[in-house]
Amino acid sequence: MTVYHDPFGFYQPLYVDKARFYGNFAIQHFLSADLQPYFAINFFAGCFMAIKCFAVIYDFKQLMVKIDDTFRHQGMRRKLVAEIKQKGITDENVLDAIGSIPRHLFMDNSFIQFAYIDKAFPIASGQTISQPYTVAFQTQSLQIKKFDKVLEVGTGSGYQSAVLCKMGATVFTIERQRALYEFAQNLLPSLGYRPQFFYGDGYLGLPTYGPFDKIIVTAGASFVPEPLKQQLKVGGIMVIPVGKSDLQIMKIITRISETEYTEDDKGGFIFVPLLTGLSD
Ligand code: SAH
Repeated sequence: MTVYHDPFGFYQPLYVDKARFYGNFAIQHFLSADLQPYFAINFFAGCFMAIKCFAVIYDFKQLMVKIDDTFRHQGMRRKLVAEIKQKGITDENVLDAIGSIPRHLFMDNSFIQFAYIDKAFPIASGQTISQPYTVAFQTQSLQIKKFDKVLEVGTGSGYQSAVLCKMGATVFTIERQRALYEFAQNLLPSLGYRPQFFYGDGYLGLPTYGPFDKIIVTAGASFVPEPLKQQLKVGGIMVIPVGKSDLQIMKIITRISETEYTEDDKGGFIFVPLLTGLSD
């Protein structure tokens, strides 16, 4: 199945009107083609209008973002969902999101066969798209509810942001690699997901947009950045992998009052490092 997505939703009526206009003319000319002595004129005018009509349809398709999500991809996604369910993911909304988002579009075309294997995979700028199980685990830990205001540190490919958007969260995502920031900013809206994108240093969070109901850090930190703790609402949850470069412990931090936090450790994971500053 190939879906042509209209990123802004306003091209379609415009192009349908245009195609209908030329189509009607073509039909009228063909219908009057038997009127002598104008047969040739009407016939050629009809052909011309028909060609114009097809050209408009072709133009429209070119304008649209072509999304190839075949039954084969959908089948592979169902298997992936079954696999992460078996590994302990129970939140149906998380499973639904993983089952419906075409992960292969977040990776380079030549690696499409790896898109539905439960593994992290290299993307641009020496970074990785997180393992689907890890995405599901972090998202499930956040107990996402519709309209939750979520800060993501480490946009990367944008896949995690898409999962959060799909679940109805209002997402603010920040990335320090310019190429990735631009990639995700182009891809996500074309799939219908509209987080707010920021090019910046996630260590600092987004003080002017906070506080947040939930914060997710998708790179390994050597400590929990204080600004992120401060930008968490009371009752809010942060999920952050903390440790050395070869292994981090997933920490679930809950802010229980203005000054108090609880911390829960949830096992070892490996992420690319959380770095300071910007790529350029
Ligand atoms: N959530 C991503 C995973 C990307 S890997 C996905 O779904 O694909 C982690 C990302 O964190 C990398 O893109 C890396 O560039 C970014 N990162 C590392 N340190 C950062 C920082 N201080 N601020 C913002 N992004 C950071």
